[in-house]
Amino acid sequence: MAVYGIDLGTTYSSIAYVDATGRPSVVPNTEGDHATPSAVYFEAADKVIVGTAAAQTAVVEPELVVDLIKRAMGKHETLVMHGRRFTPEEISALILRRLMADVEALTGETPTDAVITVPAYFGTPERLATMQAGQIAGLNVIDVLSEPIAAALSYGALNASSERAILVYDLGGGTFDTTVLRIAEDGDIHEISTKGHPALGGVEWDERLAEYVVDRFMEEHPGVPHPFSDPTTVQDIRSRVEEAKRHLSEAEEYTLRLVHAGEVSAVTITRAKFEEITRDLLDTTIEITMAVLAEARERDVDHIDQILLVGGSSRMPAVAARLTEVLGQEPILHDPDLAVAKGAALHALEETYRRLVSLGQPAEAQSLARFCGLSPEQELYIANRSIHRVAGRGFGVLCHDAVANRYHVMPLIKSDDLLPASATRTFYSSYDSQKEIGIQIMEQVGESDDPADHRLVAAATLPLPPDSPAGTAVDVTFQVSTAGALEIEGIPLQTGALSAEEVEAARDYVANMRIA
Ligand code: AMP
Repeated sequence: MAVYGIDLGTTYSSIAYVDATGRPSVVPNTEGDHATPSAVYFEAADKVIVGTAAAQTAVVEPELVVDLIKRAMGKHETLVMHGRRFTPEEISALILRRLMADVEALTGETPTDAVITVPAYFGTPERLATMQAGQIAGLNVIDVLSEPIAAALSYGALNASSERAILVYDLGGGTFDTTVLRIAEDGDIHEISTKGHPALGGVEWDERLAEYVVDRFMEEHPGVPHPFSDPTTVQDIRSRVEEAKRHLSEAEEYTLRLVHAGEVSAVTITRAKFEEITRDLLDTTIEITMAVLAEARERDVDHIDQILLVGGSSRMPAVAARLTEVLGQEPILHDPDLAVAKGAALHALEETYRRLVSLGQPAEAQSLARFCGLSPEQELYIANRSIHRVAGRGFGVLCHDAVANRYHVMPLIKSDDLLPASATRTFYSSYDSQKEIGIQIMEQVGESDDPADHRLVAAATLPLPPDSPAGTAVDVTFQVSTAGALEIEGIPLQTGALSAEEVEAARDYVANMRIA
């Protein structure tokens, strides 16, 4: 009856549960690793291989391997493999199924209930897509939780004793995320401010290293076709530079071999050189971190007690060094690759416990707590904890300003507003006997009120009474739930790419696929 926490990462994914001693434990996959590459190799339309073998196959058959699918979540994008069209939600579901199968192989139990984590800046469509990926995999998704909250939970928030403010700096494989949280004395977690970059992660560092190595190769072998023109070489370089990067986190220099078009180069790179060619990437993360701290100060959090490093890429020594330099405080680096999965498992347990209590099933809640080895004090602590989340992004309605003849977005809910949030606005009909008013709900992705800084996430029509004169007013209430779902007058809006029927059909298809 364990409940699971899943870190569905851009480059690696992990699954964890709370064991009988009350500690979150990451389930190793059948290869014995705690993180499984988020890569899917399509052997046939109904047969896939997920993980290390898929990532390795990318070298030979790159067109049949999908990676970085997290970056496509919530987008209307599909990939055709062996004649079948796959959505990002389905491909993510295949990764989830592999993690579930690994749990089954180890424990004999198939996970049914899970919390899946997402970057804090994920908007509504991406959160919904993640929820749907879980449903397609056959999971009951208890919650979609922001990664920094999960990280804070696993860094010991369960046993908080005094109020403190935490800065989470999360540099993963494909995304960067930074969040200020306040942990209150009673254990409540308050998200204060959050910012991130959807396409800034370890792979960007890998790319810089690849360019450097290829430039050296071309200097030695000027006559040969460029290595980037050959997809097989590109995949090979990708895995070699990733390995080199990991070595450079430990050693001062590393030599990697590049083989292409019958030529070989041995390229030596020092850590100092690596840091120099990637400095601007690190600078960007620092700028975003300073912005999130500035926003936290506006919300009266002006002292940070702890800086937590999360995400595999935060192992690069330059990260801690630079944060120490600019913030005058040494960050804590502990288990950065697994902290999110572990925190998700803790949250899955806590959330399930609280739901059982609120459903009037205290005996079941207690037996869950006993099963997970919680002491009565810990039980009381989690029973009363609440997590106060903020909106990762703002929402508004597209409006036309007739005087200036321009479109703009009227804000409803601002980014970092406490969730659940609601806003009521009045709309007016523009002509006699108008039957309905159409509204377009936009999610803010940039800074201004310009439609270009937004994307359309949902549309709705507001019915008007028959024979209404021009200027008839209609009040509408918008709500964003704690999970980030958008509702209008209490009715959920479809903000994802897939309808409920499509999710159902995808689940049936995926259930019949062979996944290794
Ligand atoms: P995550 O998504 O948090 O698992 O992070 C995965 C990213 O961390 C990948 O880009 C890895 O290349 C990177 N990574 C893992 N270990 C190290 C390391 N020791 N040094 C530098 N980067 C690492």
